[in-house]
Amino acid sequence: MAHYCVNCGAELVPRVIEGKTQEACPNDDFVLWRDPKVVTSVVVAHDGGVLLGKRSIEPGRGLWCLPGGFVNHDEDPLDAARRECREETGAEVDITRLLGVYHIAKRNAASMIGVAYEARLADGVGYQPGSEMTELDVFTAEHLPELAFPSHRAILDEYFSGRAPAAEPRLLSGGAAALTASPPSAPRVRSPRPHRS
Ligand SMILES: [Zn+2]
Repeated sequence: MAHYCVNCGAELVPRVIEGKTQEACPNDDFVLWRDPKVVTSVVVAHDGGVLLGKRSIEPGRGLWCLPGGFVNHDEDPLDAARRECREETGAEVDITRLLGVYHIAKRNAASMIGVAYEARLADGVGYQPGSEMTELDVFTAEHLPELAFPSHRAILDEYFSGRAPAAEPRLLSGGAAALTASPPSAPRVRSPRPHRS
């Protein structure tokens, strides 16, 4: 299927960049990079469990999920995580740590990079379901409901299994610099792609 330049409307043509063939504009520097989507998920620790929402929309209508969603193109993932919590749970949250970064493969769409955070409700706030949720509830590891997304199940399994029983959750003052990464396994580091124009 033909694709067209977002700058000038010309039909894209193959161009070899760093040994791989991409679709590129013959007139300017536009390249149709096939990027993953970035999505956040937030484990809101509350009342001895985690806060989940029952979805009112597809995909996964009627099933439960972590608060979260896509990161806007100009948005810090931390801000996206807080915004999604606000939209879906009506609550301000304090992000307490980065849980991990996940690759979510998709068969017929761009894959996703999932960024999972732990959070807690900001002092004194309650919660109520946003428009994409019919209800919110707190679940413990032993009584998780059916989840809409396998990635959320993986995040929660890891979250509950990795939590030291006696340890207090580590609360940080917030901000990207204060977050400590604790990936479940050694991160695979890839060299960055050349800067796109
Ligand atoms: Zn063009």
